[in-house]
Amino acid sequence: MTGLLMNRVLCRSVLALRLRLPMARNASTYLIDDPKYSFLRDLGLEKNNVGVFNGKWKANGQVIQSYSPANGKIIAEVQSASQADYESCATAAQDAWHTWAEMPAPARGEIVRQIGDALREKLQPLGQLVSLEMGKILPEAIGEVVEYIHVCDLALGLSRTLPGTIFPSERPGHVLIEKWNPLGAIGIITAFNFPVAVFGWNSAIAMVCGDVSVWKPSDTTPLTAVAVTKIVESVLVKNNIPGAVAALCVGGKDIGQTLVRDHRMKLVSFTGSTAVGQDVGVEVQRRFGRHLLELGGNNAIVVNSDANVELLLNAALFACAGTAGQRCTTTRRLLIHERLFPEVVSRLKKAYASVLPKIGDPLLSETLIGPLHTPTAVEAYKRTVAEAVKQGGTIEFGGKVIEREGYFVEPTIITGLPHDSPLVKSECFAPIVYCIKIPDLDTGIQYNNEVDQGLSSSLFTENLADVFKWIGPHGSDCGIVNVNIPTNGAEVGGAFGGEKATGGGRECGSDSWKNYMRRSTVTVNYSGTIKLAQNIQFGD
Ligand code: NAD
Repeated sequence: MTGLLMNRVLCRSVLALRLRLPMARNASTYLIDDPKYSFLRDLGLEKNNVGVFNGKWKANGQVIQSYSPANGKIIAEVQSASQADYESCATAAQDAWHTWAEMPAPARGEIVRQIGDALREKLQPLGQLVSLEMGKILPEAIGEVVEYIHVCDLALGLSRTLPGTIFPSERPGHVLIEKWNPLGAIGIITAFNFPVAVFGWNSAIAMVCGDVSVWKPSDTTPLTAVAVTKIVESVLVKNNIPGAVAALCVGGKDIGQTLVRDHRMKLVSFTGSTAVGQDVGVEVQRRFGRHLLELGGNNAIVVNSDANVELLLNAALFACAGTAGQRCTTTRRLLIHERLFPEVVSRLKKAYASVLPKIGDPLLSETLIGPLHTPTAVEAYKRTVAEAVKQGGTIEFGGKVIEREGYFVEPTIITGLPHDSPLVKSECFAPIVYCIKIPDLDTGIQYNNEVDQGLSSSLFTENLADVFKWIGPHGSDCGIVNVNIPTNGAEVGGAFGGEKATGGGRECGSDSWKNYMRRSTVTVNYSGTIKLAQNIQFGD
């Protein structure tokens, strides 16, 4: 069984079921009514929310209850989209595009700047909502909103510097121009684990490029999507711009599939698991649409024989256990030089022990690790740990579900599995790291590259020659190739994304904007005579 397939079996198939706790719809149990969570009202949320925005808020689909993974209680409800609602979003977005595309890019940038400011105003409550609904700790949740703000800053600059090129023509009296135009309407499908930032990465850049969007967020973080859209809406309304420039369509797989098949969505930017992303990619290709795929990772830190162990341990704790292992860039494999292996494993176990008492309510300042997102994720964690033991692995630390309300598990360190075992080669979206011995850097690179995924990687070394080997043609084959930092926690200036089963997409900084525009090569003849390229003579 390949790593990818194993991943599907152990994790995705279970997650797809989206198990829910059978809680009664008792209005009095909703967290939104508890004064402790008054920040929800500051974001314009209510007990019953509408999850469809096409300039107006109106939904006809089924009602989704959004739960806090920290306690399994219902936060509030969101009415999702029916197929007709999706249609109304796509139509309104297309209509809005005509107005939006005609605005000069710097004017669009000004709108995105205002969105950044509106996010700054709501930084605290929006961060709190992300923490409550997704489950990551508050500093990371606030950091996620800051990331969207940073992308707005990046997009503002881009709106005044979007390039076009003039190339020399071989023909006298001719000019060769590369002109970039917006794509039109695009679809954005996002994962649960970055319910703000991933939309922000796409939306801010797409907006300055002149595109409008229909966003289908994860159906387990619908409140965050509604709150973000309300913030964007407030800026659009203030500037008399149609709201459907940033349409929202809360829904599940069915709405996602409709969007993916919709010819009007010139680009589908999909962030999620490799299993779903592979189908999305094929479907979009079937209609010759464009796709941008940001899929699963199986990220490794390679620990060289000369690594600074202190630095490594600081990085590894956050990289492996932070966000309860629910970042696409979480370190899932530690490939440790055999000389350092006993020391690193033993010190990492001590570091894990020190954070164990700091697992809890992600909104509390003393908490370092929050819950898993759903009960199905807990099941996937349990199955993976059991399978690791069955295959001869040793649980060096953790391995158990924490008996308390909510979906908490112990961060887990496993040794003794072969580097190429299907389990090690799969992504289980939980805080499980496999420690594997390597005799040298070349082997570390080989193990790093042998998995299906190619998202993030990092080498800990003090050796300059090894740094350049690592980042060179025979080094890491990932989209993110770090040195002496964790595999997670990227900045917005660079292009973010990965190779192979991670999908090949790039978002955010660098030249990622090209994904959101179409390129025309334009030749203008001002010579008054027709001259063919390559000096071809045709007739007289
Ligand atoms: P998921 O694949 O279950 O869902 C992602 C989104 O796809 C959700 O909005 C979901 O409703 C939608 N969806 C489900 N089936 C669909 C279908 N058939 N057609 C269209 N849309 C469909 O992923 P998840 O559990 O929400 O997120 C975790 C996964 O996302 C992990 O694998 C993680 O590595 C990955 N991820 C990757 C990145 C990245 O940038 N590479 C970032 C965040 C998360």
